[in-house]
This record gives sequence, C-alpha cells and structure tokens, in this order.
Amino acid sequence: MKNPEQKIETKCVQAGWQPKNGDPRVLPIFQSTTFKYDSSEYMGKLFDLEVPGHFYTRLSNPTLECVENKIAALEGGVGALLTSSGQAASFFTILNLCKAGDHVVSTAAIYGGTFNLFAVTMKKLGIEFTFVDQKQDESTLSAAFKPNTKALFAETITNPSLEVADLEKLARVAHANDVPFIVDNTFPTPILCRPIEWGADLVMHSTTKYMDGHAQTTGGVIVDSGNFDWTNGKFPDFCEPDESYHGVVYTERFGKAAFIVKARTQLMRDIGAQQNPFAAYILNLGLETLHLRMPRHCSNALAVAKHLETHPGIAWVNYPGLESSPFHALAQKYLPDGSCGVVSFGIQGGRDAATQFMDSLKLAAIVTHVCDARTCVLHPASTTHRQLTDEQLQAGGISSDLVRLSVGIEHIDDILGDVDQALASL
Ligand code: PLP
Repeated sequence: MKNPEQKIETKCVQAGWQPKNGDPRVLPIFQSTTFKYDSSEYMGKLFDLEVPGHFYTRLSNPTLECVENKIAALEGGVGALLTSSGQAASFFTILNLCKAGDHVVSTAAIYGGTFNLFAVTMKKLGIEFTFVDQKQDESTLSAAFKPNTKALFAETITNPSLEVADLEKLARVAHANDVPFIVDNTFPTPILCRPIEWGADLVMHSTTKYMDGHAQTTGGVIVDSGNFDWTNGKFPDFCEPDESYHGVVYTERFGKAAFIVKARTQLMRDIGAQQNPFAAYILNLGLETLHLRMPRHCSNALAVAKHLETHPGIAWVNYPGLESSPFHALAQKYLPDGSCGVVSFGIQGGRDAATQFMDSLKLAAIVTHVCDARTCVLHPASTTHRQLTDEQLQAGGISSDLVRLSVGIEHIDDILGDVDQALASL
C-alpha cells in the first residue's frame, strides 16, 4: 500500500511533529517569542505573506504549528489555528466572518459562556444573533436567516443539555442560505464524531476539555474544512484585496486555507489570544491518549446513566446513549461509538436535594470544569449558566434541578459507589 491514510489512533500519537535526522523524538517546546532571519529583505517578505515562516509567536510558532497540524488531521480539515481558550476560538470564528451590521443564526442550546458571548458581547459589537430550536424542521430554521446572515452555529452535543445536533440537516440549512456551518465539537472530540464528514465547514473546540483531558491548560482551536466557497458573493473580505497586507487576496493566494490564514493574519495580529508554546505542548500530550480515554469515558458514562435510570432517588436522566433519550437516534447516527462522558440528571427533591447530593460526593469533585479524566460535578443553573434568565435556561434545556456529572476514567465500581453513597445520604 502506498501512503495509506493513517487511522485516527495513529494520528493522535504521531501526527504533527515529524522529526528529521537527529531531531528530538518528542515535540520540542519552542519557548521563543521571536525568530531570527539573516536579512531584513526576507523579513519584509514574511510580513507581506510572500514566504512562509515564523516571525513572532502571536502569529505562529513551530510548537503550535505541529499541534495545529495534528488537530487538523484528526478533524479532516486543511488547517487549524490554536487559541488561548475555547471562548477565543468561538469569538475569532464569528469575527472572521462578520462585521458590525451582520447577523448569525445559532442553536439556542449551547454552552452558557458561548451564549453570553453571542447574545451580549457580540451585540455590543453590532453583530446580532437569532437563537433557534434546532429540533425544528428545515423550512422553519431557514426562516431565521436574513440577507445579512453570515453563519449557522451549533454544538455537536450541547453543554449541558446534551442535545445531539442533526449535523446533515443543519448543514443543508446553512448551505441553502449560502453561509458556512460552524460546529463546536468539544464534547465528542474527533474520536467520536468528525462534523466535516457530515457537512460542517468550520469546526471549533474548547481544547481545555477532553483534548487536554487532564484539566491542565485552557485552550481552543478552529479547524477549516477548506470546503466553503468564499467567492459566493457574501464574503468580500475573503476575495477582495486586504490593504493591511499590501493587497493580498486570501482566496487567490491561499486557496482552501483562506479562512485560517485570514483568521491568523488579521485577528491574531490585531487581537492576540494566541496559545502559548508550553500550553500547546501539554495539549499535545493529552491528544496522544485521546483515543484511549474517550471510549472509557463513554462506557463509564453509559453505565452511570443506566444505573441512575433505575434509582428511585432520581427524577430523570439525560444521556444520548440511553434508549430513553429523545436524541438516541441522532446519537446512533452521528456518534455510533459513544457520545461523551457527560450525564445530566435531576434528583428527587429539586435544587436543594441536588446541592446536598453534590456536597456528599467524595470521589467526584465540585469544579467549574467538565470533560476531565477525574469525575467531576456541577450545578449549571447556579454556576456556569447563572447569568441566563429562566426563559433562556428553559430554551437551553437547563432545569433548575439539573446536575451535570462529568464521568471520568476511574474504575466504574468506584464511580457508582460514590454516586450511591451520596444518594443514600439524602
Ligand atoms: N464550548 C463548549 C462546548 C464548552 O463546554 C466550553 C467551556 O466549557 C467552551 C466552548 C469555552 O471554552 P473555554 O472554557 O476553553 O474558553
């Protein structure tokens, strides 16, 4: 076989850093803000994007580049851009497409921080969002689009309501309206779902979650499929000269990589929010075991969800892997190998019982985090989503009794034992 496409497990371990003769075996941390060149003429060409190369770590760095290439390979994209957080990745993805006066359609059930970024901060910048119930049919969803709409945004699995996006349907709606489909693929990771294969144009992640997997570094990433046609008349910034780079035309100079190059050269240059080389090194370590951790997160979470479903102290359980989930069919289609390690449920006795249950857990820690190797737990209505009104909480599928358990990769007997002793204490 000549140059066979590597399996995703191999890409997790090997993609990105390709050491040459005598190079370090392990991806080095290029802890340098700047890079030396022999002539100012060559440096000038770098600044005009005429030759490739690193010159300042705000824009690019060899360590970051290797990790970006690994994640692009995992998602099946043509390029990637690491950011300092998932929030920065969402912000840059929208800002690379929109300016004041533009509009975006987003599903209503999304992570609370993303919702606030879109509904409050973006609004202050003049970019309006319409939030839709993604369960609606295609023509109802299409009715939310306007002539100035520039994107459709969704999460593959929503945090924390665990809705599963019908990726093919949403991609059709976005493309029928001539805009890119952006997917936040944080919860499944490319191990369990690769949205580009289902029609997504841009994929982003909070790498802070499973990709790092050990709660050590905040980070984000944007991956470009290279498939969207930026010359369709709606995105002049991609196909008209950029005067801040001596008239470069991104679609002409960079072809399929136009989105990522534009995000890097305009937004990273002007705003910053780059990932630092040490964080990228830690992220790369996490990526090396992502394919081993995700199946364990999923099997543990499914066991917890099934156990809770039969427990008299539990009012309801939501996990896409359960047959009782309204999203089970979509999960089977898009996430056949498992959905994620996050289970949400309500305790009999509502908000107070939920708090007491959480305070009684011994193994599972109360933390503002999710998707960690260690089991952890959170009450979204009083923490991550506390800025939302009751109506917004309801639209996002978050009830006041919802407990979000992020099931880790410990032994399942110990996780179930902890849950049971906490329930017994109520
Ligand atoms: N997207 C999702 C689905 C998330 O769960 C989060 C954080 O919880 C974010 C984006 C934001 O990422 P970060 O916390 O790395 O800024």
